[in-house]
Amino acid sequence: MPFTAVHPDFGLLDATLPDLGCNLRWADFHRQAGSRPSIVCPECAWGVHAKLSPPRVRFFCHDPGRPDTCTLRHESMDHHMLKLEMAGAIRDAGWYAQLEVAADDRSWRADVMATSPDGTQRMAWEAQLSRITVDDIRSRTERYTAEGISVCWVSPNQTSPDWIGSVPSICVHPVERVRPMAVREGLVGFDPQKGRWVVREERLGQFVRWVLGGTVELVSLGRRAPLLWWTSRKSIRARDAWEAARAEQERAQFAAEEQRRKEAEAEARRRREEMEEERLRARDEAEKANPALRYQREEDEYREQQRAELAARLVRERKERSERWAQQEAAPSLRPSGSKNVSASAPRGGIAFPVNRSKASSRPS
Ligand SMILES: [Zn+2]
Repeated sequence: MPFTAVHPDFGLLDATLPDLGCNLRWADFHRQAGSRPSIVCPECAWGVHAKLSPPRVRFFCHDPGRPDTCTLRHESMDHHMLKLEMAGAIRDAGWYAQLEVAADDRSWRADVMATSPDGTQRMAWEAQLSRITVDDIRSRTERYTAEGISVCWVSPNQTSPDWIGSVPSICVHPVERVRPMAVREGLVGFDPQKGRWVVREERLGQFVRWVLGGTVELVSLGRRAPLLWWTSRKSIRARDAWEAARAEQERAQFAAEEQRRKEAEAEARRRREEMEEERLRARDEAEKANPALRYQREEDEYREQQRAELAARLVRERKERSERWAQQEAAPSLRPSGSKNVSASAPRGGIAFPVNRSKASSRPS
């Protein structure tokens, strides 16, 4: 059931406009069986006639024998009502609204195309009730973007579709459930008290006005799988201020903890020094009273020093030995391969020779 029809002389008729957008009267088409001008569907070019739905909404209906392929034919009353609501909201916001606008090459057809008063901006408002994959809705969005047209997909379904947030989109309450029609998902505001984003419900008319007026814009929120949400610049500023305040608070907290830790360390050091002073003072007093204690202590200290020096020397010597060994092990590989056997056997012979000689000389003659 299209809202538009093509007139042979006047072009596109729009049933949502009082004068059909062409300075014509609805009555000229409605219930004028014999003499009415022939008008056709903009999608399939099949004949259509003017009709009123039960809530007295004007639309065009295909004449009998319509082709099954026409997409406008399959649109439900809910789809129809949502288009009407969007067109009304766009016009209330001071923009032009055209229904069922198709690209010249038929690569897209917008349910409602909003055009700014100066004609420089266009935004498609799409009522999406049927199932569509995320990939398909993204590619349809890209087709609009390629022509400099922004878009907002609107779902009036009870359950939020899985493409919500993957493209510029909103969910409204099911048609006729809430009057006037209201956005239930897709619009968020930042709550500084809670420190998080909260979903905002708003009348569709107000939302459309904000979007077209640039009061709300898209932000990508969420860390793992960011989603596109509509929000106000005021909310973005509130979020930025809140994040800056939290960072400052964390920094101050960290600095305070660091200060406390340093103070505790200084206190512990001071106590240790006090205890050491106390110990030395007690020792000196005891040694003054009994000089033997001092001689004994000095003797102990001297022995302890000797032990420490010996231990250090042993460690040093062991290290030097192992370094020498390492050098000897590495040495053959640095020499030319031809002299390998000579160099390898040389030290052994060098050691063996004096031993043999000493044995010989020590033998009784
Ligand atoms: Zn059609």
